[in-house]
Amino acid sequence: MTGSGAGSSDRGDGGRQAELAAGLGEVEERIVAACHAAGRSRTDVHLVVVTKTFPATDVRLLAGLGVTDVGESRDQEAAPKAAECADLGLRWHFVGRLQSNKARSVAAYADVVQSVDRPELVPRLSAGAVRAGRRPVVLAQVSLDSEPTRGGVPVEGVMDLCWAIDAAEHLELRGVMAVAPLGADPRPAFERLAAAAERVRGELPHAAWVSAGMSEDLEAAVEAGATHLRVGSAILGSRPRLG
Ligand SMILES: *Cc1c(COP(=O)(O)O)cnc(C)c1O
Repeated sequence: MTGSGAGSSDRGDGGRQAELAAGLGEVEERIVAACHAAGRSRTDVHLVVVTKTFPATDVRLLAGLGVTDVGESRDQEAAPKAAECADLGLRWHFVGRLQSNKARSVAAYADVVQSVDRPELVPRLSAGAVRAGRRPVVLAQVSLDSEPTRGGVPVEGVMDLCWAIDAAEHLELRGVMAVAPLGADPRPAFERLAAAAERVRGELPHAAWVSAGMSEDLEAAVEAGATHLRVGSAILGSRPRLG
């Protein structure tokens, strides 16, 4: 990768497409190697390309390169981007902190809401889904550290949250999601997530997705059994820090 950021993405030449193709290729090689090392099939691991802070033109190029799933983390950015790219047939994943007052909006375009981390979001999301005539897939976000700003329900609360999501008629519970703690070995955290996921699956067998792993730690996530990886900067380049 050339390491260029969002600023270079609207040049209008084929350069950006080549950058994205190279980034996708490198990440694909890493996923294949991680699956091989873990004795897992590549087809059991799904890639969600996190496009936050990058323009809709990048999403369009990614779709042209075969990407099927994209992730966004802020409603005010994601809603117009999803509308602009509605013709591409992509699956939109909402992966950011979900404010209660945004739940309805997110339900109108997100095919997968990965970051439901408290029961009070459930009726709001469900109401939004009804209004939009949709039935989004939902994951329960689990906290793997004690940092409240990063979101997630404590591991002890994950089962109750999953029961609440599962009971909502217009939401489809499919599993759990987590972000590894910053600046620490992700492996013990991903093992805690795997244990929580197994407990959830024991009660609710249809909730088998485990979303974990980002640009820095996707190998550890694959090793710990992740079914979905959320990769941004390793494909799109570095982005300005989000507030
Ligand atoms: C931004 C983000 C990602 C992607 O992170 P990278 O380090 O750029 O791969 C994954 N998951 C969540 C929840 C994010 O907010």
